[in-house]
Amino acid sequence: MSQVLLKDAYIITMNDSRQVYEKGDLLIENDRIIEVGHVSIDKIKGDAEIIDCKGKIVMPGLSNTHVHMTQQLGRGLGDDVDLLTWLRERIWPYESSMSEEEQYISALACCIEMIKSGVTSFAESGGFHIDGLGKAVEKIGIRCALARSTMDTGEGLPLNWRESTDYTLNKQIEAYEKWNNKGDDRIKYWFAIRTIFNATDELLIRTKELADKYKTGVHMHIAEIPEEIDYVKERTGGDSTVEHLSKIGFLDKNILGAHTVWLTDKEVDLFRLHNVKSSHNPAAAMKVLGFAKVYEMLKKGIVVSIGTDGAPCNNRMDMMDEMYLTALIHKGRTLNPKAVPAETILQMATINGAKTLLQEDEIGSLQEGKKADLIIINPRGIGSMPLHDPIANIVYSMHSTNVQSTMCNGKWIMKDRKITFISEEDVLNEAEKMADAIRKRAGIILPDRFPTIR
Ligand SMILES: [Zn+2]
Repeated sequence: MSQVLLKDAYIITMNDSRQVYEKGDLLIENDRIIEVGHVSIDKIKGDAEIIDCKGKIVMPGLSNTHVHMTQQLGRGLGDDVDLLTWLRERIWPYESSMSEEEQYISALACCIEMIKSGVTSFAESGGFHIDGLGKAVEKIGIRCALARSTMDTGEGLPLNWRESTDYTLNKQIEAYEKWNNKGDDRIKYWFAIRTIFNATDELLIRTKELADKYKTGVHMHIAEIPEEIDYVKERTGGDSTVEHLSKIGFLDKNILGAHTVWLTDKEVDLFRLHNVKSSHNPAAAMKVLGFAKVYEMLKKGIVVSIGTDGAPCNNRMDMMDEMYLTALIHKGRTLNPKAVPAETILQMATINGAKTLLQEDEIGSLQEGKKADLIIINPRGIGSMPLHDPIANIVYSMHSTNVQSTMCNGKWIMKDRKITFISEEDVLNEAEKMADAIRKRAGIILPDRFPTIR
């Protein structure tokens, strides 16, 4: 039995009453938290690892609810272009040219970047080589809702991505059986829909039925761009994406909609009615999509969490940056400096993330009995001092470099900035080599930005 005691920390619990301990202790045994606040000495075993957290902040690990692990090596391939160029000329050719080994390295690189910004759990939107992605998650120690990219229709898709409805659903059932509960239960397998552009109604309906049968979730890009809404209106004779999804019985509490930018007020109400979860991705929103009604959605009681999206559309897989951006853009958008305050941001990045991943009973807050998914933050630094208001400081001033250590499932997956279960340097070397090779193989040529002498 292994124990870890965190002593004398400023503990942000994110429990139901949002208690904070100015000088608290937290005791972990194996993979779970067994006491928070004031730990009695008789509970501590002789061989417990004791960490002095004086001056440090301990809080739940962050949940990143929209990630593309396979796109990590495509960072920098989609800057300053519109979404359709981004998709068809840059990212689809790149992603569809990758081997399983390349997706494995891409996934490791992505997970390392997330862990270094305090992420302990995330929702993968869907890659193709699920075994590569699953192995990476299993090895590095993070928690993941894993999914396979799923499409059965659509213009301009790479040849090796064209799959029939039956084939693509069967592939997911196979992946569910292989990967669900793997990695000491850290991996939960989810079903996925890439976007309504690439999904027939049959695929949508059968995906939802399967997710219910297997008691898991569905991850889907919803209402990303105005062209999507126009397309769905034409396809359905007048309904927009969310109205259509509602009519076919797709909307439910186990649906995670990424972006949800172009929702009407009526569609926001449909999200509330069916308890659909929304992942807000502020950097991707500003780069190419538009501003979601996050403030309004939160006010109506919709569970909105935060995601980075993939590396080519953000380009930082950094949840500390995303928290900062979320806090700022909705103040700017609504011209209301009180909109989406720091405590709401922490809620979105922790407990709302846990609800979105359908794991509210296990993660998202520091409470007895929950899984030990947490981070130690070191607030000391020229860019984050002084610490007048710790919670606001985390959101508005701190960077991922303030995250000192990251624990998932009771194990340190980063300790004192060092990734535990894999060599970051080795992954970096491999990733750089592979990224070049894939770009050349996919035939992607980026235009010169300045006159270049070669
Ligand atoms: Zn996405």
